Amino acid sequence: MTKNCAVCGCRIHRGGEYATPTVDGRSHATRHHYVAERFLGRSRNRRGEQREPIFQESPWHLGGQTEEFCYDCHEELLHNPVFLPEDIRGFAELVERRKWSEAEKTTDRGKLAGRIELLHEVLSLGIEKLLKTERRK
Ligand SMILES: [Zn+2]
Repeated sequence: MTKNCAVCGCRIHRGGEYATPTVDGRSHATRHHYVAERFLGRSRNRRGEQREPIFQESPWHLGGQTEEFCYDCHEELLHNPVFLPEDIRGFAELVERRKWSEAEKTTDRGKLAGRIELLHEVLSLGIEKLLKTERRK
């Protein structure tokens, strides 16, 4: 069965060459959780280890749902978003306005949860805005 990357649409495979700087390595299939397992107190990398969850219940209600991507889109693109200094300044201002900033850390990670939800909102609104203005080719 042929599968395609959920972002770029390339044909992905589960043969060898994962993560090598080759066409096969770059098109290797890799699975990504929509919501990081660590946010919910689960860890796939360290089985059995329970983390303190950031969210007691996921605000997005996706359970452990995943999507498949090519190596390029998963490991290079989705894991390394570019934030320029002005992006960070603007986001920090939003964090302050939403009262998700914190002068001192406490054991409560509720403000971090707020920042995570806010970053998702920023991304979602950006995509929505661009979809309205970008022409379909
Ligand atoms: Zn891709």
